Amino acid sequence: MKNVAVIGAGTMGNGIAHVFAMNGYKVSLVDVSEERLEKALETIDKNLWRMVAKGKIDESKKEETIKNISTFTDISDAVRSCDLVVEAASEKLDIKLSIFRELDELTSEDCILASNTSSISITKIASVTSKPDKVIGMHFMNPVPIMKLVEVIRAYNTSDDVTQNIMDLSKNLGKVPVEVNDYPGFVANRILMPMINEAIYTLFEGVAGVEEIDTVMKLGMAHPMGPLQLADFIGLDICLAILRVLHDGFGNPKYAPCPLLVNMVTANKLGVKTGEGFYKYTKGSKELVVSDSFK
Ligand code: NAD
Repeated sequence: MKNVAVIGAGTMGNGIAHVFAMNGYKVSLVDVSEERLEKALETIDKNLWRMVAKGKIDESKKEETIKNISTFTDISDAVRSCDLVVEAASEKLDIKLSIFRELDELTSEDCILASNTSSISITKIASVTSKPDKVIGMHFMNPVPIMKLVEVIRAYNTSDDVTQNIMDLSKNLGKVPVEVNDYPGFVANRILMPMINEAIYTLFEGVAGVEEIDTVMKLGMAHPMGPLQLADFIGLDICLAILRVLHDGFGNPKYAPCPLLVNMVTANKLGVKTGEGFYKYTKGSKELVVSDSFK
């Protein structure tokens, strides 16, 4: 594989493009928004400089990486000669299905179609294509250039060859792939989201405050970040969407999202991205300050 297209140039898309390009792949980065593409290139440049400063790569490697990335707002120009497409567009079912319908028409028969979705069924995404054996989940973690794990999600019809190919490719990117089957939340979010939801219930029921809950999990369980801070980092809207997928998919009330989480999302308190969730975030400050709502 040499040519890779990444669809969606947001938080995950820019990281995925960065990692492929740094490993010698020609990357076509696609987004509907020209502004997001410009921002993605800026972010990749900034992150590469950080790697240069830390002595992880030299300046020529940085330049070579940037040269490997081309940007497109028209998907058809970008994907025709690709060996692999990694879709990392917004987490909305209708957007993903329409992208995969288009990819099915535009890509060659052998091109592998991967999705970075956190929670949508890969089997469902594959069902709108004529080659479900070539569709697979490639779930990178945020921030992509730093986090080692790739959850490789094998859908109902994904072939052995395609799965092996993506496992090998992930290793070539310096990642550690783990193969899992396609059930709601896969492995990562099936375990993580109920923990976050329980932490929110613990706050909601007045058992302890924000800092207390996070401190117990950091110092008691050696987690690098407490569950409420992690929820702010992931985005409370994303946490809610994933819990809804688990709740619908298993029909089990244990996955029902805490009413406090639902309220916070309705009030647009989404965490880091809106400047407030369980904590308050001020640009340029690394201090962790509990939101006034929980003081
Ligand atoms: P984001 O909102 O930062 O970026 C999504 C991008 O997709 C936006 O730039 C948007 O303009 C673009 N987009 C929307 N429709 C498009 C289309 N039809 N064609 C091309 N581009 C389109 O989202 P994100 O956090 O980068 O998440 C992307 C995917 O990665 C989602 O499926 C999400 O569940 C998954 N994911 C996110 C994280 C995370 O921590 N943020 C972690 C793992 C997986």
